[in-house]
Amino acid sequence: MTLRLFNTLTGQLDELSPANGGELRMYACGPTVYDYGHIGNFRTFLQVDVLRRFLKLTGVPVRHVMNITDVDDKIIRNAAELGISIGEYTPKFVDAFFEDLDSLRVERPEFIARATEHIEKMVQLIQRLEAAGAAYKTEDGSWYFRLKSFPEYGKLSKKDLTGIEDGARVDVDEYEKDSARDFALWKAVKPGETSWDTAIGRGRPGWHIECSAMSMEFLGESFDLHAGGEDLMFPHHENEIAQSETATKKPLARHWMHVRFLLVDGKKMSKSDGNYYTLRDLLLKGYKASAVRMALISVPYRHQLNFTFDGLTEATNAIDRLRTFHERVTKAALPTGESEAMQQAAAKARAEYFAALANDLNTADARAPIFDLVRAANTALDKNEFLAGDREAVLATLKDFDAVFDVLEDRDAGPTERAVAWAQADGREVAAELLTRQGLSDGEIDALVAERTQSKKQRNFARADQIRNELAEKGILIEDSKDGVRWKRK
Ligand code: AMP
Ligand code: ZN
Repeated sequence: MTLRLFNTLTGQLDELSPANGGELRMYACGPTVYDYGHIGNFRTFLQVDVLRRFLKLTGVPVRHVMNITDVDDKIIRNAAELGISIGEYTPKFVDAFFEDLDSLRVERPEFIARATEHIEKMVQLIQRLEAAGAAYKTEDGSWYFRLKSFPEYGKLSKKDLTGIEDGARVDVDEYEKDSARDFALWKAVKPGETSWDTAIGRGRPGWHIECSAMSMEFLGESFDLHAGGEDLMFPHHENEIAQSETATKKPLARHWMHVRFLLVDGKKMSKSDGNYYTLRDLLLKGYKASAVRMALISVPYRHQLNFTFDGLTEATNAIDRLRTFHERVTKAALPTGESEAMQQAAAKARAEYFAALANDLNTADARAPIFDLVRAANTALDKNEFLAGDREAVLATLKDFDAVFDVLEDRDAGPTERAVAWAQADGREVAAELLTRQGLSDGEIDALVAERTQSKKQRNFARADQIRNELAEKGILIEDSKDGVRWKRK
């Protein structure tokens, strides 16, 4: 099954497969570690996770590279405000980023590259650009890319960039369309700033050069796919193309994927509007990491996701339904035999699921048949018409679903506990309801639930009730059903 994915460069759905028949070589721009990651950032990282997981599920191995921007204007400004170096400023946010990726069950790329560890490669690339007549040095010792040397500039974002003044320069890392000008490759050292002493002078890299240098280092001069949020299309990706293609005379990436920006309550997320959320903010409000994952991936990457708390509650309920069903199907004592209808329903759901993801990663269309199957199977279970021979087919479909969605297993306690510990160490407020739940690990709960079952068997109902009440106080509910006992955190 081949994935058809929208390609920003060609403006159409193109088949995505490895050019060299081996691994699919992909580069996705990573975080700028100047603060904790917000849900907009994680929406993009999660959609890239959907892509890599679907490729792997369909038998395509991936070689995925992500950079960490640990030197840029914002980092330098924030570190300076605290009176510390960028090397002292960024580690906390790098660690937090990986912790958040783990909470959201985002798979680690095969290679993660930090900008500050690849300065030499950037310098070499700038030298190559100079040799090609596309880079020049200014009086203060900075280096710029000469836009005029790359007539194809603008081919990705399709912006009309005619009338760009030759030699006009922009030196900030991020800028708007109308300031498309010669952009900084290397910025001369300024007092108090971290800098590197290199063959092209003392200074630090501009933002764009790192992705050109590091993608080349790990993936070669031309690779299969480049991804990022839609804001990166211009100028960042346009600049990467200009740098790389001028140096190599080869297309940087054949395929470009851009994730549409997330809105919150219908508006652009902003700290001053009070609609700005980090993952940690949501965990500390008592939402589960799995629900955030589900909410952020369920809207296809090219659609505008409007994040709301209702949406998060819907995701929580949807996961609950799936987990309850999964447990029921796994454990239920079933009549022998196989039902033609259920076999067909499982196969159909599975086929529709794959087809939807192969169609430009349509996660919404992929989810729907799975929930239809759950409904049909639950009805059959209620009527005792779900047979032992159907179990495997239904579980196999759920397994493929979870290879991409990864929400079935209840692993929410860890992220919540981590967030609470972090908030307490950081002096932040934590919802009381989260604090009472502290102190009981999944294993401890399992042990108490087992003790309760044992107590009931031994007709020690006082102890059984005591355990139930104790757990309830900590927000853990026990459910008895004909298929056994399960517990969940409220
Ligand atoms: P940054 O840390 O700002 O460099 O961003 C990391 C990634 O998150 C980039 O791919 C951005 O395009 C993406 N991103 C930032 N804000 C949003 C948003 N509101 N919605 C979706 N993606 C975003
Ligand atoms: Zn980049």
